[in-house]
Amino acid sequence: MEEESNEFLCEVFLRLYRPGHCPFPGTVVRHMVYRGKQLRTILCGEHVGVFEGWETSPIQVYRERHELVPDDVILGVRIWPSPDITCFEESASNSETRTELNMWTAMHRAVKSHACWRYWLGHYAAYPVPVNRGPLQDSYGNWQRAKDHAEGMYRTYAREDHGQEYAELPEGFLHSIACKAAENLRSRKVSQGSVSHG
Ligand SMILES: [Zn+2]
Repeated sequence: MEEESNEFLCEVFLRLYRPGHCPFPGTVVRHMVYRGKQLRTILCGEHVGVFEGWETSPIQVYRERHELVPDDVILGVRIWPSPDITCFEESASNSETRTELNMWTAMHRAVKSHACWRYWLGHYAAYPVPVNRGPLQDSYGNWQRAKDHAEGMYRTYAREDHGQEYAELPEGFLHSIACKAAENLRSRKVSQGSVSHG
């Protein structure tokens, strides 16, 4: 149980595709003492910058000194994938054309690389030392390539199967990719190493 942080989700409230709390695992706690009371917020790698000026500690370090309840209840909902694009694997198996299958496969791969990048983003937020920089940059590059590929596959699918030129990947797809990546991170499906090439 070296990665306990998966039990603590980011507490930032967002209004993106739909409002709710960030679904990614927290990796740091930002905290301060206000009128003798300990104030704290759990944050993922992306949101480590909020509450500027507060102290920052990796979750494990914070827990050695203060109480932190796993899977604590939060006011308000979490952001979850849109129900209409719930499962890329299932969609892939129901594909009616080759281009559709390629498109769903590209989405599924994008989820993996997004999760890997988010893992390293969180790890670097908690432990910002030079040795963690390389994997973070590599994983970001992999995610960008997977995203480009997914966008290209979507364009091809829209053109060949629906006769639409220059279709852009809908926001809902990107949202679902991110939410699926968050689920993978929480269920520890993400390997910490690089995304497999090929
Ligand atoms: Zn977050």
